[in-house]
Amino acid sequence: MDIRIGNGYDVHALASGLPLWLCGVQIESETGCVAHSDGDVAIHALCDALLGALALGDIGKHFPDTSDEFRGIDSKILLRRTMDMVKDAGYRVGNADITIALQRPKLAAYITRMRENLAGVMGVQVTAVSVKATTTEKLGFVGRSEGCEVFATALLFSNE
Ligand code: MG
Repeated sequence: MDIRIGNGYDVHALASGLPLWLCGVQIESETGCVAHSDGDVAIHALCDALLGALALGDIGKHFPDTSDEFRGIDSKILLRRTMDMVKDAGYRVGNADITIALQRPKLAAYITRMRENLAGVMGVQVTAVSVKATTTEKLGFVGRSEGCEVFATALLFSNE
């Protein structure tokens, strides 16, 4: 059995008056991600981890932000399409782990729904999906609430 690991990283700037979507959950927040899509920076990092595990390039290659097709798109659709690529390549997800760095608001109350959302789209058990949140102790662009930064790791197993 072939085992593959991938990592993903994404950052979006935050601006007032925009919706904030993370792992398919709308977060109550004064600011949201500036983006061509719905700005779900967590799903973008996860897609990059999945694509990275299979050396299939990155999310920008498959879903270019210059394309009208992807303007304002629900990032869960991007994750679903990425999972189609994983399946077409003959792999399944072992587990995924996501760390969201955001100064505010606190995300603890949303974590369960985030994990359920991602597991549903990926077709895996909720126990296979970890979502963690951290501040950066007011340091850097995250700490100044200028942006949201996400790291993701995904492990894939081949089906044979
Ligand atoms: Mg992005």
